[in-house]
Amino acid sequence: MANKFFHSVYLNGELCKGCINCIKRCPTNAIRVQNGKARIIKEFCIDCGECIRHCPHHAKLTRRDHLDLLEKYEYTVALPAPSLYGQFNNMTDVNLILTALKLMGFDDVFEVSAAAELVSEESRRYVREHPEKWPVISTACPSVNRLIRVRFPNLIDHLLPLLPPAEVAAKLARKRAVERTGLSERQIGIIFLAPCPAKVAFARSPLGIAASGIDGVMAIKDVYQILLSYLPAAEKNPQELASSGKIGVGWGIAGGEAAGMITDSYLAADGIENVIRVLEDLEDEKFTPNLQFIELNACSGGCVGGVLNVENPYLAKAKMKQLNKYLPVSLQHQEDHAFLDSGELYFTEPITYEPVYQLGSSRMESMVNLKLVETYMKEFPCLDCGSCGAPTCRALAEDIVRGFAKKEDCIYLLRDYYDTLKKSQLLQETGNTKKTMEGTPYENPGIDR
Ligand code: SF4
Ligand code: SF4
Repeated sequence: MANKFFHSVYLNGELCKGCINCIKRCPTNAIRVQNGKARIIKEFCIDCGECIRHCPHHAKLTRRDHLDLLEKYEYTVALPAPSLYGQFNNMTDVNLILTALKLMGFDDVFEVSAAAELVSEESRRYVREHPEKWPVISTACPSVNRLIRVRFPNLIDHLLPLLPPAEVAAKLARKRAVERTGLSERQIGIIFLAPCPAKVAFARSPLGIAASGIDGVMAIKDVYQILLSYLPAAEKNPQELASSGKIGVGWGIAGGEAAGMITDSYLAADGIENVIRVLEDLEDEKFTPNLQFIELNACSGGCVGGVLNVENPYLAKAKMKQLNKYLPVSLQHQEDHAFLDSGELYFTEPITYEPVYQLGSSRMESMVNLKLVETYMKEFPCLDCGSCGAPTCRALAEDIVRGFAKKEDCIYLLRDYYDTLKKSQLLQETGNTKKTMEGTPYENPGIDR
């Protein structure tokens, strides 16, 4: 069974300076700095990549596969994420990028955007047939799914129970490769070119299915330069490999998936803080009951904002909009409809609540510990300065209750403690109770010594 808290984001301890920049940026309060080094609490982390974006010392990194993976298989298929297309200047024909992928060593390519068109079609059907689930929440962003799993249990029932496009692409690509080559499934390597760490984590530890059909995940930024070098050769002899249109390619930018729903009753939010705000409002029932669909992307701008891309997200978004002008609306094939009807697009495992933020194993224990947290909070200065290594005073109080920290980690309480200690030492030295009680020796230089 996959490790349900597997993460692709990790820390290089040698590079970490303990500067605490990352603890304030983590949307799930998953980072602590202790003994001068950051530490990620694996149960809280959702692989959003914010800490990678904001670490000035590049100490947060993403686990991923590298080019040598190609040698492991007899036949390899690249699954390029739609956001790959936004990394190149003046791109009007995705066949050039797909041809360059073959020139760099892949045997075949299968666009994730082609699978996205199938997911769009099935999503429209699901939303139409399940008004009781409105608003249906997209499950395309793995960080959002992980966030809902640990923090918004009441919203789990609204999750769209469909595989993300990369998983659908993996299934279709493997089937096609077996048919074309006669090789066994194990001899074929399905390799996703991903824009973000969350998608790497999904392939290793998926939600909604027992195991991923993806054999390896490479970062777009790791293949980008190689692809650039092959583009001139691809231009001379481009192959007709593209099999998707605007609807599928649009999934790479914020609002693209929602546009594929072909409804006006939708909401699309991007950037993890905006996503959290929408989920909180949804939990508070602030939206109209007629809202049908919610698209949420943890990265600003959508998948083009992922930290494994190379281009600025806003430039990439503009480039993809430009590219979309040259694409047909959608490019589906006859065999795709058979796949849609097979039900293979659906989750096979339930997504269940993981109560990682609870303060106790029972309701009673949680309540007792919550009271303790409130007691600590009364002692703390509530400046959320981060000097203790926790992002907020409340996070420190909760860590103390969980047994991960101590009160003296708060530098303000520590200072008070030393002041008191100093005073009592002075008292012992001078034996002058009355004068020391009037003020500290530093404030009252006239004190008898
Ligand atoms: S931002 Fe976090 S990971 Fe980076 S050096 Fe500072 S404490 Fe370490
Ligand atoms: S990846 Fe996101 S959730 Fe995980 S530690 Fe970094 S900022 Fe926090």
